[in-house]
Amino acid sequence: MSSSIFRLAVVALSLLTTTVSAFADDPKPAKQLFGAVKLPSRSEPESLGFYAKGCLAGGVAIPSDGPTWQVLHPTRNRRWGNPRMIALVEKLSRDARAKDGWNGLLIGDISQPRGGPMLNGHASHQIGLDADIWLTPMPDRRLTYAERDNFPENSVLRKGTLYVDPNKWTRAHADVIMQAASYPEVERIFVHPGIKKKLCETWKGDVATLSKVRPMYGHHYHFHIRIKCPPGSVGCTPQVAPPTDSGCGKPLADWFAKLKPRPVPKYVNKPVKKPTKPVKPTYLTLRSLPNACTAVLNSKSVTSMAAAEYGVPANDDVAAVTETAFAAPSDAAATVAFRSIEDFSDLLPRGEVPVPLERPGEQW
Ligand SMILES: [Zn+2]
Repeated sequence: MSSSIFRLAVVALSLLTTTVSAFADDPKPAKQLFGAVKLPSRSEPESLGFYAKGCLAGGVAIPSDGPTWQVLHPTRNRRWGNPRMIALVEKLSRDARAKDGWNGLLIGDISQPRGGPMLNGHASHQIGLDADIWLTPMPDRRLTYAERDNFPENSVLRKGTLYVDPNKWTRAHADVIMQAASYPEVERIFVHPGIKKKLCETWKGDVATLSKVRPMYGHHYHFHIRIKCPPGSVGCTPQVAPPTDSGCGKPLADWFAKLKPRPVPKYVNKPVKKPTKPVKPTYLTLRSLPNACTAVLNSKSVTSMAAAEYGVPANDDVAAVTETAFAAPSDAAATVAFRSIEDFSDLLPRGEVPVPLERPGEQW
C-alpha cells in the first residue's frame, strides 16, 4: 500500500468514526447542506458518486483570473473542482488562445467547495468533473466582479429559432468546442441542438470527437465540459460512454422534434378536473448520496486544519483572512481579499493539500 493511499485510508477511517453521526440522518435537502459550505475539505482530491448524485473531497479552486481566463459569478463560489478538471480548463484556455483564435475563457460554474447538489442552477456539477464555459470570448480587459456577477447570457442562436445565427457564430466558436472535445480525458460536451447541427454541417475532423459533443437544451450561451472519472478513483461512478456514431442523425432529429414550438391548443370548455394528490417534492438528502459524502461534509476545512497545524488558534486572523479570500468579494476589496488558493500555499503543507501549483503547462 503506498503511503498516500494509507494516509487516505487513515483519514477516511477517522472521519467516518468521529463525524458521520452529525449529519447522516439529516432530512434536510442535501443542497442546503452543501450550498452552505464555503471551503473544501482537507483531504486527497476525490470525486465521489455520480455527476448528478455525489460530492467532492479535497476540491481546489481555479484562480479568478489567469492569463487566459476570467471566472464569472464570484458570489456563487462555484469555481471548485477536482484538480484534473481545473487543470483541463486551464489547458483549454491556453490552447484556445494559441490555436483557436479565442482570446481566453470566461468560466461559469464548476462545483461548490465540497461539490454536492446546488440550491439553484444544475442537476450535475456535483463531483467537480463538470465545467461551464461561456460562448463569449474573454474580453481584453479585466471585468469587475459586479460585471462578472451580471454577465449577459449572449445566445449564439437566431432570436426565436432553434438555429445558430450566422451573424453571431464564428469559426472560433466551433474550434474552441472541438478543441475541448479533442482531449482524451473529456467524456462529453453538451451544446444546444442548434449548435450540434452546425457542427455536424461544418466539422471536418474525426467522428469520434464529434460524437462526444451531445445535444442538450439550454447550452446556447455556454457549453458544458464533462471529464471522465480520474483513473483509479474507486469512489467515482462513470457515465456510460456516448454512442460512437456522429450523433448527427436520429438523436439530433429527436431533439428538434422535442423542442419545436407546439401550436397553442384552442380553448375548450372542459370540465374542471378534481385536484389530484399534491406531489411530494423530491430532492436528494444525504442518504441519497454516497456515504463518504457525509464525511466530506463533516470534515474540517483546509484552513482550520492548516491553522491547527501551524499552532494558530482556529479563530485567528489566518482563518479569517482565508475565509474572506474565498467569500464573495466586493470590487473595492477584490485586489486584497480575493486571492487565489496558491497565495496560501505557505500556510498549507505541500504534498498533502492538492493545490495545482505548477502552471502553466502541467500535464495530468
Ligand atoms: Zn453545466
